[in-house]
Amino acid sequence: MQQNKSAHNMETLDVESVLEQPPCPLCQSKQAHAVFEGQDDWVPDGKAGRRRFLVVRCEGCGAHYTTPRFRESKKQFAFSGSYPFYQRARQNSSDPTEMHLRPFDRRINLLERVHPQPGSILDLGMGDGLFLAAMRQRGWQTTGIDSEADVVTYARQRLGLSSSFVADAELDPFPEGMFNVVTMWGMLQLTYHPHQLLKKVKAVLVPDGVIAIGVANISGAGARLFGSHWHGLGLPRHLIHFDPNSLRRLVEETGFRIHAIEFDTPYWIIRPSVLASLPLPGILGGIVRRLVYSVLSLGGRTRLGDTMILIAKVER
Ligand SMILES: [Zn+2]
Repeated sequence: MQQNKSAHNMETLDVESVLEQPPCPLCQSKQAHAVFEGQDDWVPDGKAGRRRFLVVRCEGCGAHYTTPRFRESKKQFAFSGSYPFYQRARQNSSDPTEMHLRPFDRRINLLERVHPQPGSILDLGMGDGLFLAAMRQRGWQTTGIDSEADVVTYARQRLGLSSSFVADAELDPFPEGMFNVVTMWGMLQLTYHPHQLLKKVKAVLVPDGVIAIGVANISGAGARLFGSHWHGLGLPRHLIHFDPNSLRRLVEETGFRIHAIEFDTPYWIIRPSVLASLPLPGILGGIVRRLVYSVLSLGGRTRLGDTMILIAKVER
């Protein structure tokens, strides 16, 4: 259904004409070599799975990034129409329950270890707003932005998160205020100018403010095992594929002091990765996926984890 919808919405778009081959988004070097060739998991002209994208390793700084990518002026194509996330919010079909808020417990606990008292939080790329709803339950004053109007409408109307706005974190001004915490879950890897964005974040944080960043870890076990089938690649939307070193360097270069980097191996990355690598049907497939997940989970909280959360404080 998603593919039909995207084909319908974007039938006039010539995708090739809006792609470019960028330099490294972190150091601007143009020297890089290919590491993975992966297929897109979604493109806006209905040809999902047929267009190839490279993940390359920068020879200047060692970071990984995607090429080609959508030109910045056309980046909305990667998220418009049938962006395959937040379907519940898009369909506005049901209210979330306590069960929907529980997956955020770990990251909230990490944040509250650094900032125990509730304060004000700005979430960039708030998605359907469930994370902010969970923070509000803990007494925090929440503000969120997202570039997608329908998920922001859901957050405002169904979750009552009135301080939610449609904005592009890279292009538009942030909502007014000084924040104790700024969070970016699954968002930094989508950005064209990560240094500029983090400097902008620093400017709206109080002097001892906290930043929390969640991204996939391309040096984890999942990427090594599944290669181009690893679901953390998010091609072609993910422009940068961080590892602990590239993430740490970026955050330190933009004026923060690292407090912690923690790792995790979520089933939502493993399941589609195994499905793509070993498409076994039925009960057998389910058993294999659970088995692989159990094995990978053993290293899930180490640097082999598939995702990482970095917590840092403004460097005074
Ligand atoms: Zn580089």
